Amino acid sequence: MEIRSVGVVGAGQMGNGIAHVLALAGYDVLLNDISAEALSSALALIERNLDRQVSRDKISQADRDAALAHIRTTTTLTDLGQCDLIIEAATERETVKQAIFEDLLPHLQPHTILTSNTSSISITRLASRTDRPEKFMGFHFMNPVPVMQLVELIRGIATDEPTYRTLLGVVERLGKTPASAEDFPAFIVNRILMPMINEAVYTLYEGVGSVQSIDRSLKLGANHPMGPLELADFIGLDTCLAIMNVLHDGLADTKYRPCPLLVKYVEAGWLGRKTQRGFYDYRGETPVPTR
Ligand code: NAD
Repeated sequence: MEIRSVGVVGAGQMGNGIAHVLALAGYDVLLNDISAEALSSALALIERNLDRQVSRDKISQADRDAALAHIRTTTTLTDLGQCDLIIEAATERETVKQAIFEDLLPHLQPHTILTSNTSSISITRLASRTDRPEKFMGFHFMNPVPVMQLVELIRGIATDEPTYRTLLGVVERLGKTPASAEDFPAFIVNRILMPMINEAVYTLYEGVGSVQSIDRSLKLGANHPMGPLELADFIGLDTCLAIMNVLHDGLADTKYRPCPLLVKYVEAGWLGRKTQRGFYDYRGETPVPTR
């Protein structure tokens, strides 16, 4: 099936990046958010990121202009009904995602493929509540989307082969690389990455190391490009906690118990870069550790 138009639900860090790469590849993008403010900051950010790509000679000025012309925004979810493909990239909460699909269903075309960019929630369960579980898949982009090469493709138990092949085609047109994962909690990347981040928070909580020594150890001792706490701030601590809860509930193993210190940061509203404070304080010139 040929995809021409894509509806992206949620214009946060992931939604704006997904809209950016889709538009650059020539898809018509309709970006939706409940917040008009989120939509205007997403557009401004996409423009800035495209400008940076032009200044680094990664794309031409004409590519940038064409990409921007491919993006429209709306706060009315049902406007996305005419799209060939929906990519849901709203807040990592199952009730939020379910409500989005429920509201969209009566407005969709029969051929429309539904996907979720969820980091951890069961694709099979989300799909089972729609009228088209065979046309439903996990479509998991990495952050920041314009830079990261991987897209995880997660088939629910009912997903059919044409849907999988269509999404493989989209990944190819975006110039990215797919990896297939089975539909178990947090799939592949986050099944491995999040327990490591959670363990880094435990290491901080138990006083084994400071924020700085933990990040420095993993960067210089394991050759990671970012330290685990720096990375947690980048992903968003609310998202990290949500994924740990899905692992803990879904696999019923205490090894996935979210660190109480991670819970406390989220309770404080210190969610990382997006709120300017997390394991580091980003309000000044250079990030300062908060512990
Ligand atoms: P975010 O908090 O930056 O953005 C979420 C956006 O969704 C917000 O703008 C919010 O206003 C909007 N939203 C909430 N409810 C909505 C609704 N009913 N309709 C429309 N919009 C709604 O979150 P994010 O980091 O962009 O994460 C979005 C999704 O992508 C989550 O499922 C997350 O697990 C997944 N994801 C995140 C990362 C990451 O590194 N942050 C990586 C891969 C996947």
